[in-house]
Amino acid sequence: MTTRTRFAPSPTGYLHVGGIRTALFAYLVARQAGGQFVLRLEYTDKKREIEGAGQHIIDSLHALGLTYDEGPDIGGPYAPYLQSDRLPRYREWAQQLIDAGRAYADPYSAEEVQQFREEAQKAKKPFLYRNHRPENPPEWDGSTPLRFKSEPQDYEWEDAVMGQLHAGKEAIDDFIVMKSDGYPTYNFAHICDDADMEITHVIRGQEFIASTPNFLNLYEALGLERPILATMPHILGPDGNKKLSKRDGAKDVLDYIRDGYLPEALVSFIASMGWNDGTEQEIFTMPQLIEKFSLNKVQRAGARFDERRLLWMNGAFIRELPLNELFMKCQDYWPAEAADYPEDYRRAVLALVQERMKYLAELPELTRFFFTDLPVNPELISGHKQLKKLSTEELRTLLQQTQATLEQSDFTALDLQNRLNALLEKSGQKPAVLFSLIRIATTQAPASPGLAETLAVLGKEVSLQRLQSQLSYL
Ligand code: GLU
Repeated sequence: MTTRTRFAPSPTGYLHVGGIRTALFAYLVARQAGGQFVLRLEYTDKKREIEGAGQHIIDSLHALGLTYDEGPDIGGPYAPYLQSDRLPRYREWAQQLIDAGRAYADPYSAEEVQQFREEAQKAKKPFLYRNHRPENPPEWDGSTPLRFKSEPQDYEWEDAVMGQLHAGKEAIDDFIVMKSDGYPTYNFAHICDDADMEITHVIRGQEFIASTPNFLNLYEALGLERPILATMPHILGPDGNKKLSKRDGAKDVLDYIRDGYLPEALVSFIASMGWNDGTEQEIFTMPQLIEKFSLNKVQRAGARFDERRLLWMNGAFIRELPLNELFMKCQDYWPAEAADYPEDYRRAVLALVQERMKYLAELPELTRFFFTDLPVNPELISGHKQLKKLSTEELRTLLQQTQATLEQSDFTALDLQNRLNALLEKSGQKPAVLFSLIRIATTQAPASPGLAETLAVLGKEVSLQRLQSQLSYL
C-alpha cells in the first residue's frame, strides 16, 4: 500500500511553529516512503473560521518547502480537499450509518440534556448520552443532530509515537456526527475523509487522544480498517510547564521568515522539538531528515520551545551559506543608507558580519555604521569597563597616536593589523583598551567585526575622519 499522510488543519487561527511540526512530520513520513502528502483544510465549524487563515496555512507550508501532492489549491484524485465542499459525501457516509442502525436523530433540546446532566450529577454517575437513547427516534431529516450509536467496549491500540494505549468502555459514548447546520463534526468528517482519501497514517496532536476510543468504535461501525495512528506530544512554552502559546513569543512561521530566518533552519529547529536520531547531531538538512526521521524516535513527553536555540540554529545555517547566496537573501534587509553604496562595498560588509549574524533582519543593526557616520556616543566610553578609567587627556593621546599610525597605512587588513599591533606595543596598553577605543571612535557602535577588517572596509578617509570627530568631541 502506498504511504499517504495528511496535514488537516482547521483554519481557525494562525499556525505557529508548533502547529506546523505535525505537517513536517507527516511530510517526512510520506517523502521517506515515496508516498504522498495531502493537505486538507478542515472547515467544519463556520463560527470559528478566520478569514485568510486557509491561505496563511498554504503560504506557511510553501515557505518551508513542505510541498504537498494534493490539496485545496492544486486539486488531486480525491478532490475536493476542503471539507465544506464535501458535504454531500458526509451525508452518504451518514446514511450508511443510519442504514446499519448505527446512528439516530437526536431529539433532545438543550434544556433536556441539561436535566439529564443534573440527574447524573445527583446520582454521582458520569453523564453519558448512550444512557439516554430515545426509544423511538424520529427519522433523521437534517433538522436535528445525528448521533452515532456506539457499541462500548474496551480497547487496546498501538500508537506509533505513544506506544501501547488502552481505554475502558466508559471512554465511549454516542457522539454527534452531523450537526443541524448540515455540517459534519470533526469526529466524523476526518474519519470519512481519511477513508475516502486512502490515508495510511494519521499524525496529529495530543488533544485528540481522549477521543480515540470513540474513533476506533466508529471505524468498526463503518467497516473501515484503522490507519496507523501517531500522536504528537504537546509543544511546551520556554519554562517547560504549559502548552506553548502566542504569549510565549512563538511567532508564526511567516513572521519568522519575514525576520530573515532561513526556511532550512526553521525546518531543522521544528524537527528538533521532540525528535532526534539518537546521535549527538543537532542540525539536519531536509534530505537528512527525510532519510533519518522515524515516528518511533519522537519523544513522548512534551517538547520545549526555545527561541534562543532557533536563533543559534539560524546563525549556524547563515554561516554555512556561500557569500553570494547570503547576499541575494539579504537584498531586502539592508539599512536605507546602504542604497548609495556600490555592490562590492556591501558584499565586503556582509562578509564581515556573516559570522555574527543570527537572522537577516539584524542586518541594519549590525552594519549601519558602515554606511553612515553615527554621532559620537559618549556613553560607549563612559560605560566601558576599562576606558572609563582613562582621563580625557590619555584618551586624546591614544587617538592622536592612532591617527599618526593610520596615516601611514595602505589600509589593507594585513597592513592595518601589523601597524595596530606595533602601536599596541608602543603605547603599552592592553588590546581591550586601545582597540576598544579605536573601534568605538570609528564605528560609534557597541560591537563590530574585527578591527583591522572593519577599518579596511571603511577605508582611510572615513576612518581618519571619524577618529578626528571623536578627538574633537573629547
Ligand atoms: N482539524 C484538526 C486540527 O486542526 C486536525 C486533526 C487531525 O489531524 O485529524 O487540529
